[in-house]
Amino acid sequence: MNRRYDVCIIGGGAAGLACAASIGHGISTCILEKNEILGRKILATGGGRCNLTNAGCAGVSATLDFFALQGLETCCDSEGRYYPYSECAADVVRVLRDSIDDTYCNIMTSTAVLNVSAREDSFRVETDQGPVTADAVVIASGGKAGPQFGTTGDGYRLAKELGHHNTRLYPILTGIECGAFSDLKGIRARGVVRLYRDGEMLGEEKGQIQFTADGVSGICVFNLTPMIRAEEGEKPRDAMRRYELSLDLAPDFTPDQLQKRNSVFGIVTGPLAERLDAETIKDWRLPVRGIKGWREAQCTAGGIRLDEIDPKTQESLLVPGLYFAGEILDIQGPCGGYNLQNAWETGMRAAAAINERAGAL
Ligand SMILES: Cc1cc2nc3c(=O)[nH]c(=O)nc-3n(C[C@H](O)[C@H](O)[C@H](O)COP(=O)(O)OP(=O)(O)OC[C@H]3O[C@@H](n4cnc5c(N)ncnc54)[C@H](O)[C@@H]3O)c2cc1C
Repeated sequence: MNRRYDVCIIGGGAAGLACAASIGHGISTCILEKNEILGRKILATGGGRCNLTNAGCAGVSATLDFFALQGLETCCDSEGRYYPYSECAADVVRVLRDSIDDTYCNIMTSTAVLNVSAREDSFRVETDQGPVTADAVVIASGGKAGPQFGTTGDGYRLAKELGHHNTRLYPILTGIECGAFSDLKGIRARGVVRLYRDGEMLGEEKGQIQFTADGVSGICVFNLTPMIRAEEGEKPRDAMRRYELSLDLAPDFTPDQLQKRNSVFGIVTGPLAERLDAETIKDWRLPVRGIKGWREAQCTAGGIRLDEIDPKTQESLLVPGLYFAGEILDIQGPCGGYNLQNAWETGMRAAAAINERAGAL
């Protein structure tokens, strides 16, 4: 199938689709996606609702304009999180797919990229369906989080073979293992989670805490995970011993108010109330044993080194014509739409640079 294109986009996820949708008419493009469908991870985002950006993101208006142009209405919740108005992640994938012009873009699903090599004036992209040749390549193959959605970290290897480097990778935005909670599994409680290392508080988050069989989960917990990691050369198990969580499951009550009560039942539900008293409900200390792995993580911390990429174009500073977009980069944000924002933004930026380059030829 050796076909020649102006641009080859590796990965039909958020960044790859935003890039393809923004590439100008007349520029022949192919999208190579290893899954059978495009945007498989997008479908799972925001619990199926797709929290596509956040009012706190610098590039929020460009993203909203982009989606409005494709006909997608959006709405914002009280915490600045934007969703499609229909609250349906599939609609996001659909508008992205519909905005890609089939006249110029060949979408190849069930096609895994195995290797990319740079030639004098083009790239040869080897896939399990045969080779493709392109003048420019965009690596938008995501990170390592959620491998069940197709993101198994292939892009780091492809980039390495082209001379790029990545910073250390570790799973973030995931649950924290910190107890044996089979009796609490499924219980949710409002509270504040504080993270300590060597007794020093690193951060705190307020929100709904969800108990799992071996720990805690929920957005407020996820947002603390970027701070939990082993130092270079440190064994993960040794590193974890330094971390501790403190849960305040009665943030709206003072210690005095709690002391006057017979029990904490009514503030927290049955099985939790049996474990806690007036003191521990305000400061329930739990040693961190670890964080959940790649399968349950929503994002990858670390990625392709940013000092090897031109931030105005997403083009490699090492290999002309090679671009990077999305989670593969060493960019990560908290829950709330920041990571999809990064994907749309870098995908669109790479497309703008490619359009300009094509115009200049
Ligand atoms: C369960 C879950 C919920 C999330 N919810 C949110 C949310 O609500 N808001 C938010 O901002 N972020 C959310 N995220 C994070 C967000 O989805 C990602 O940061 C974002 O999708 C990254 O975009 P990307 O294009 O870089 O990668 P992806 O969207 O992951 O796309 C990469 C694509 O490349 C393909 N690919 C990989 N290797 C190859 C190869 N060798 N050949 C061909 N194709 C390949 C993959 O199959 C994949 O389709 C969530 C993540 C998860 C796992």
